[in-house]
Amino acid sequence: MSTTPHAPDPSPARRHRRWWWVVVVAVALVVAAVVVAADVEHRVWEHTQARYAAAVTVQEEAAAGSRADAEAAYAAGHDDVVAAIDEGRPVLTQSRGQVEHPKVRRTLAAALEDAEALRDAPVTYPTTTSTVEAVTRPNPFRPETLPAVEAEVVEDSDPTRAALDAAAADVAEATDAVVQARREWAYDALEPAVQDARDALDALEGEKVGAGLRDTLGEAAAQGTAVLDAGPDEVDGDAAVELRDTLEDTTRAVWTDRIDRIVSARRAAAKADGVDCTVDRCVALTFDDGPVADTERLLEILDRKDAPATFFLVGSNVERNPGIARDILDAGHLVANHSWNHPLLTTLDDADVREELRSTTDAIVDATGFRPYLVRPPYGDVDDRVRGIATSAGMDVVLWSLDSDDWRTRDPKRVREDVMDRVTDGSNILMHDIHPSTVDAVGPLIRALRKEGYTLVPVDLLAD
Ligand SMILES: [Zn+2]
Repeated sequence: MSTTPHAPDPSPARRHRRWWWVVVVAVALVVAAVVVAADVEHRVWEHTQARYAAAVTVQEEAAAGSRADAEAAYAAGHDDVVAAIDEGRPVLTQSRGQVEHPKVRRTLAAALEDAEALRDAPVTYPTTTSTVEAVTRPNPFRPETLPAVEAEVVEDSDPTRAALDAAAADVAEATDAVVQARREWAYDALEPAVQDARDALDALEGEKVGAGLRDTLGEAAAQGTAVLDAGPDEVDGDAAVELRDTLEDTTRAVWTDRIDRIVSARRAAAKADGVDCTVDRCVALTFDDGPVADTERLLEILDRKDAPATFFLVGSNVERNPGIARDILDAGHLVANHSWNHPLLTTLDDADVREELRSTTDAIVDATGFRPYLVRPPYGDVDDRVRGIATSAGMDVVLWSLDSDDWRTRDPKRVREDVMDRVTDGSNILMHDIHPSTVDAVGPLIRALRKEGYTLVPVDLLAD
């Protein structure tokens, strides 16, 4: 065996030592990396846990307060609806017949119905489920899971707050519209009442009027004029309606007082002349639709017979024949109102009825100086409304109890016989001086009536 000189080999112990350091460094690096990674993972997990806990807390708080919040919101909305109904319902009731356009009230009625349905609907609080998702630690060495958490949350009521708010707003808006419409109506309704009151005060100037009535009417008329002058936007609907009622009641009272005074004076005068319809068998001849030319012939007949009668004059005929109207009054007969154009008064609106009556009264006053206190609606067509307007214009409504049918038969003999067949104590006999046949019938009819013991009187002297 030969030996070659060479460098001495490193001892195995030194070789071993060098590898060991490599391993040590490598292990140290790995350990360091693991430590860093573990630390990062730990921090991330801590952060995740904190987020999870915060989400659960928020959810718990939301769930705990949600029902109370929804209940409070519903209660506030419900209170608003009740308040709107409490305001709107009386306005709807009060305004019946007191607004021009019915649609305004219909809108309020519908809004109130909807609101009342909501007010009375049972309330529920529907819930939704709120979830905080589960989280799992992505660490195989330390597996850990935070579970999903669920909670019931109330978000709104049923009926919803929004529905309640909308219903309350609808009612409030519709109520305002009715209040405004009623204000305009009240203003418009006040105008004729003030006018009637002023007419009555003018007409009765210098006449005796019942105690205090003239002052009351004067004050109310002044108040009404002030309200009208202020304009419709300033009108308090309730106050205007009350004032209108006062004006109407007092105007009617003033006129009724006048009529009572005139009629009782006339009855007293008649009694002094020996005519008392509570004792005598009285009948009244009444002639409608004149004055016309033939009325003069009738006046002559009545004069010859010394028979009083009543004439219900048509205003347009008075305007044409004012002299004849004056002759009727001068002959001692009673003159009354029978409208201007002879329409069916119940088919006309208030303003037109007033105009029919007022213009006729004015024409009679102009022609004769006498203010009529009786009116006979053409065709006997009357209702409470027309009667009220007539009373406000100073007249009592008088119809008839016996229709002579003279307008149909147009035959003097038939007219006389028809009346004599049916006449009775207190008959108020309807005839028309526009028919010559009627005028021809009057002489023989008066003879026949007197033969049976009847006393002829103007219609207002008949016993009540
Ligand atoms: Zn007539």
